[in-house]
Amino acid sequence: MLSRRALLQLAATTPVLGHLAAYFGLTNVAASPLARDYFKELGLRPFINAAGTFTMLTASQMPDEVTQAIRYASTRYVRLDDIQDAVGARIATLLRCEAATVTAGAASALTLGTAGVLTGLDEKKAAQLPDVTGMKSEVILQRAHFVGYVHAIRNCGMSMVYVDTAAELEAAISDRTALLLFINALNEEGQVKDAEFVAIGKRHGIPTFNDCAADVPPVENLWKYTEMGFDLVAFSGGKGIRGPQSAGLLLGRKDLIAAARLSAPPRGDTVGRGMKVNKEEILAMLVALELYLEKDHDRERRLWERQVELIAGRARSVPGVETEIHVPPIANHVPSLRVWWDAARVRITPQAVREALRAGDPSIEMMGNDERLDITTWMMRPGEEKIVARRLETVLRAATT
Ligand SMILES: *Cc1c(COP(=O)(O)O)cnc(C)c1O
Repeated sequence: MLSRRALLQLAATTPVLGHLAAYFGLTNVAASPLARDYFKELGLRPFINAAGTFTMLTASQMPDEVTQAIRYASTRYVRLDDIQDAVGARIATLLRCEAATVTAGAASALTLGTAGVLTGLDEKKAAQLPDVTGMKSEVILQRAHFVGYVHAIRNCGMSMVYVDTAAELEAAISDRTALLLFINALNEEGQVKDAEFVAIGKRHGIPTFNDCAADVPPVENLWKYTEMGFDLVAFSGGKGIRGPQSAGLLLGRKDLIAAARLSAPPRGDTVGRGMKVNKEEILAMLVALELYLEKDHDRERRLWERQVELIAGRARSVPGVETEIHVPPIANHVPSLRVWWDAARVRITPQAVREALRAGDPSIEMMGNDERLDITTWMMRPGEEKIVARRLETVLRAATT
């Protein structure tokens, strides 16, 4: 067998081997001079992702092992329900929960999980949704937990009931209440915290659902909330876990996962029919999760810290520029760099800096507002942090007087 290095060297000079190497996932398309440059053909310019896991920026990149799983599955047929059963069982074991299924993202997990709570194992009810006549029709949510993703719940025909306090929450529960919804990232903002929320659900026999979409790292969150007693928990597959961007996880009670599956493909007469994940994404989700569980999270954290410190140092070398590194407590819990400056000394707005970096070569995307730039490195390819540091310094320095 040729070593990976030898194969790559040969591939650079031998067209057939180049295609073979690409076929086996040994090269990435960007690195291979022989593969078609699809994005270029389409007039698209790729960029360095210094922003993070944003859907509009296509969020994350899959490790090679994950794209290899996609390639593997794409040349073999299996029954869709069989692979969901097998992968779901494996994921449940890995994540120490009763049951699991792969969905088309966390938003899809919210819709399918809610559908399952409403219908149980009644196929007629699944076909009736989003008409909830004869079913429970309300979901209770703390006002401080409102996010646009709640639309995923409303897809099932639910009406939302908003409360502020634990007393209001208990008073709002009635025989119309189907579900209590919790947005994990907003635990601090709401008055009713996670464990108390679960306890209220249990006391009244109403299922609780925790949307943890962006909430790894830390890795322990993958089992923390099912163990805390939430009946259903949703994660994005294509954020920190770096599985397919169009995949997600629905974890929780066995009866509710089975019921959620009733509204998922291949079944056609359901609210979930447009949320298809096929064998490629289902398998890739499992492989991404295995890799994520195995990786050295402390080492990765230290790498991200060094990367943001490098960018911070280069930015601060420009007189008048200030930086701060912070780690959001829940959701996108990674080292994040804020950069701002004295407008009298660096005469450019943050918006104009972002535009200059986007227009530059290579193009760089980052976040921020009118006051500052927000940068993360966790969705970069290794080494890109050096390019971002250099480009940022150049743009800021050019604006000094
Ligand atoms: C990202 C996110 C979602 C949607 O996740 P997808 O995997 O893109 O469907 C839902 N809820 C919250 C809180 C999120 O951050």
